[in-house]
Amino acid sequence: MSTEKAVYFFGGGSADGRADMKNLLGGKGANLAEMANIGIQVPAGFTITTEVCTHYMKHTHSYPPALDADVRAALARVEQIMGSKFGDPVNALLVSVRSGARKSMPGMMETVLNVGLCSATIPGLVKKTGNPRFVYDAYRRLIAMYSDVVMEKAAGVEPAEGMGIRQQLDRLLDGVKKAKGYASDADISADDLQALVGQFKAKVKEVLGREFPDDPYEQLWGGIGAVFSSWNGRRAVSYRRIEGIPDEWGTAVSVQAMVFGNMGDTSATGVAFTRHPATGENVFFGEWLVNAQGEDVVAGIRTPNPLNEATKNEQNKHLPSLETAMPEVYRPLHDIRDNLEKHYTDMQDIEFTIQEGRLWMLQCRTGKRTGTAALNMAMDMLAEGLITNETAVMRVAPAQLDELLHPIVDPAAEKSADLVAKGLPAGPGGARGQVVFTAADAVEWAKQGKKVILVREETNPEDVEGMRAAVGILTARGGMTSHAALVARGWGKCCIVGAGALEVDVHKKQIRVGGRTFLEGATFTLNGTRGHVYAGQLAMMDATENPRFQQFMAIADGFRAMNVRTNADTPEDAAKARGFGAEGIGLFRTEHMFYGKGSEQPLFLLRKMIVSTTVAERRAALAELYPFVKKDIKATLAVMDGLPVTIRLLDPPLHEFVPQAHEERAKLAAALGISVEALAKRADDLHESNPMMGHRGVRLGVTFPEISEMQIRAILESAAELLKEGTKVFPEIMVPVVGMVSELEDQKKLAKQVEAEVLAKYKMKKIPHMYGTMIEIPRACLTADTIAETAEFFSYGTNDLTQMTFGFSRDDIGGFVPEYLEKKLLPVDPFQVLDREGVGQLVALGIKLGRKTRKKLKVGICGEHGGEPNSVEFCHLVGMDYVSCSPFRVPIARLAAAQAQLQYPRKKK
Ligand code: PEP
Ligand code: MG
Repeated sequence: MSTEKAVYFFGGGSADGRADMKNLLGGKGANLAEMANIGIQVPAGFTITTEVCTHYMKHTHSYPPALDADVRAALARVEQIMGSKFGDPVNALLVSVRSGARKSMPGMMETVLNVGLCSATIPGLVKKTGNPRFVYDAYRRLIAMYSDVVMEKAAGVEPAEGMGIRQQLDRLLDGVKKAKGYASDADISADDLQALVGQFKAKVKEVLGREFPDDPYEQLWGGIGAVFSSWNGRRAVSYRRIEGIPDEWGTAVSVQAMVFGNMGDTSATGVAFTRHPATGENVFFGEWLVNAQGEDVVAGIRTPNPLNEATKNEQNKHLPSLETAMPEVYRPLHDIRDNLEKHYTDMQDIEFTIQEGRLWMLQCRTGKRTGTAALNMAMDMLAEGLITNETAVMRVAPAQLDELLHPIVDPAAEKSADLVAKGLPAGPGGARGQVVFTAADAVEWAKQGKKVILVREETNPEDVEGMRAAVGILTARGGMTSHAALVARGWGKCCIVGAGALEVDVHKKQIRVGGRTFLEGATFTLNGTRGHVYAGQLAMMDATENPRFQQFMAIADGFRAMNVRTNADTPEDAAKARGFGAEGIGLFRTEHMFYGKGSEQPLFLLRKMIVSTTVAERRAALAELYPFVKKDIKATLAVMDGLPVTIRLLDPPLHEFVPQAHEERAKLAAALGISVEALAKRADDLHESNPMMGHRGVRLGVTFPEISEMQIRAILESAAELLKEGTKVFPEIMVPVVGMVSELEDQKKLAKQVEAEVLAKYKMKKIPHMYGTMIEIPRACLTADTIAETAEFFSYGTNDLTQMTFGFSRDDIGGFVPEYLEKKLLPVDPFQVLDREGVGQLVALGIKLGRKTRKKLKVGICGEHGGEPNSVEFCHLVGMDYVSCSPFRVPIARLAAAQAQLQYPRKKK
C-alpha cells in the first residue's frame, strides 16, 4: 500500500480527511470529512480507505495487520463523541457500514445498517429509548440486510429465483401482516416484531446454514468485508462497464454512528438536491418521509413527500412538505443548502435524517443532473458569480450535449395524443418504443434491433443493464431521487417514475390502466421532460436552437485550441453541420453520392465505369459521370462558403458497387453492349479475397488514373466557377489509403496536369487549394517525414488505422470484440475510443515526423474518433489542428476540445 494511514476519522467538528481525498476515501467518506470540517453536523464515524479494498481483493479477502487496532481506535473516538459505546449493554452505539467509490455508483454496492444490535445490547436500548417497537424493527432490518448482503451475496451463495434470503424473510414479514390484518409495516406491534426476529433468525440458520452473528464485532467485520466484496458484485461490475469506471479503483467503507429517522413522528429522513436536477432551476428540491429510514426514500417503495411548497408536483401536491410540517428543521436545512452550494460552488445531492427533531447530514456529493440541468446550472452559476467561465465550461460533460440535441416529443403531436398516465419527469427528452417488463427482455429485444421501453413497478438497481438497453424507462412507483431516476438522469436517458395510475403486472407482462390493458410489445411514447406517458407512436423533433446552449458553446469556443470540422457528403449535411458550428469539412467521401437518395443514375454510370475493360470505355463512362460528381462537389463547396473542404478521392473497393441483381446486370450489360455472361465474368474478375486490403484507395487512382483525373477536375472546376461567381472556396484534395510517398507523387503529377488545364480553361492564375493525404496505414505513420515532402496536410483515418494496427477487421469485430470487452482483454472498443497506447503512438509519431519535414503541416483526424471526447482530448495532446466528426457530434467535439485546452493548455495558433 502506498499510503500508511488506513482509517480516517470524522465528527465533532473536525476530520482527518478532506473533500479532495476522494481517491482514497471515496466520494462519501471525503465529503463527510469535508462537512465535519466546515461545521455541519454529521454523525461521527470513520472511513477505511480504498487502498484497503485493493489489499483485501489482492490478498484473498484479508486485511493489513494493523487495521483491527486502527478500527478500534477510531471507534473509541466515535464512542466518545456520540456518548455511547459499541456493544455496551446499557448504552449501545449502533453503526452503519456503507460503500463509497471515487465516483458515485448509486445503489450499485451494499450497505448494512443498525450494526451492533444483539442479545447483549437490545435490552439496554429498549430501556434507553423506551421504544421496544423501534428496537425490534431496527433489529429485523439488520437481520434482513445482513443475511442478504453478508451471509448470502458476499459469501457467493446463488439462490434459486425467488428464494433469496431477503425474499424469504420478506415473505415471513408479509405473513405476519396478513395474519394480523396489518396494512403497512408501521402497524406491526413490538410483540409481533419480537416474535418475527426469532423467526428471521431461525430462517437464516435454516437457509444459509449459519447462525446470525450475535457478536457486534463479528457483525462489524462481516459488514466491512461484504461492502468491499460488493465492489465485485454483478450490479457494480455492469455499472462500471457502462460508465467506464476502472476495476482497480475499489471502494472505501464508511462506518458511521447510526441516527434514526424512524423513531416516531418527530423523526424523518430525506434526500435533496441543492438545485433542480432535471431542469437546473435554482430551487431547493427534494423528498422526505416521516418516521422512515433513508433506504425507504431511495428504494422507491413509497411515493415520498415534497421537501417544500415551491417544488410540489402533480403526484405529491396533496402531501405535506417538510417546510410546513417541520419548519424549525427545514430552516436550518435550507441554511445548510446555501452553505454547501457556496462551499462546493456546485449542485449537491444530500441525504439527511431527523432524529427526534434533531437534524443530521448523512451525505453530500456533487449531484447527477440531466444535460439540460448541467447547462442551465453552469450558466446560472456563472451569472451568479459563483463560478468562472472556465469552470462553467468544465461543468457540462461533452456527452451530455448529445441529450440536448436529441429528439423530444413533438408538442403539436402531443396535443391530441392518447395520454394514459402521468408520472415524474425523471430523465429528459422523448422516447418511443415497445414495452417490455424485465431487464433481460429489454436487453434481448434491443439486441434484435428493437426500441424498447422498460416498464417496472418500482425502481431497482438490479435492472441496470436493461435500463441501459432501453430507449426509455417507466415505473409505477418511486420518486425523483429513486435509484432509477438517478441512473437515468446520469445517462441522459428518457425516464418517467412514479406513474401511479399504472398497474404493472410483471408476471403477466401487462399494464392495466384506466380500464385498458396493454400487453408486452405495445408501443408507448414517453415525454420524460413532462412525465407524460402516451399510448402509441408520436412524432418527435429536435431540441436545438436553445439560446443558452448557443451562449454556452460560444464561451467554450473561446478556449478551444483545435478547430472542429465535420464529415459530410451532401450539401444538406454540410449545412446542418454548419448550424452545429462546424468550421469546415474534414472529410467529404466522394463515394457516398452513389448511395441513398438520388443516387440511381450516378450509381449506374459508376457501375458502367467499373465494369469497363478498356481505357476508352472507362473514359466514356467517366465523362457521363462527371457532371454528377461536379454538381455535388460544387454545391457542398458553396454551402461551406470559404471554409476549408477536404474532398477525398474515391476510396472503396470497386466490386462493392457491382450489381448483384439480375435485372440490374441486364440493364448494365445492355448499356455496354455486352452479354450478361460477359458482364458476370467482368464482375467476377473484380472479386477480392480481402477487399479492405485490396484494390482500393490510392491503388485505384494508380491503376486507373482517369478516375482520379475526373475527380480532381470536378474539384478544381467547381472551385474555379465558384470563385468566378464571387464565392470563396478552399478545397483540399485528399488521397486515401496511402502507404508510400511514391503513391502520392504519382497522383500529384496528375493533379498538377489537371490544374494547369483548368487554369487555362477558366483563364485564371491560381485556384487556392491544398494537396494532402489520409494517414491510415501504419507505414504512412512510420514514413511520415517523406510523405510530408509531398503532402501539404495529413488527415488521420483512424478507422482504417485502428483496423490495420490491431489487425482487427472493422467490418467483423462483432464476432469477437464483445467477448474481449467482457473478458477485459480490451478496456473499450478501440473503434470507438482511440487506443492511445498502440494506435496513438503511431498517430503521434506520424505528426512528429511529418512536422520535422514540414513545420506548418496541417494535421487533423477524420476517423470516427474525431467526435468522441476522450479521443478528442488525445488529438489535442498530440497537437492536431482540427478534429472532424459527423454533424451531430460537432458540438460534443467543440466542448471536448475546449475542456482539453482548459486541462492541458497548449499554444493557440
Ligand atoms: C478512416 O479510415 O478513418 C476514414 C475516415 O475513412 P473510411 O472510414 O472512409 O475508410
Ligand atoms: Mg479509411
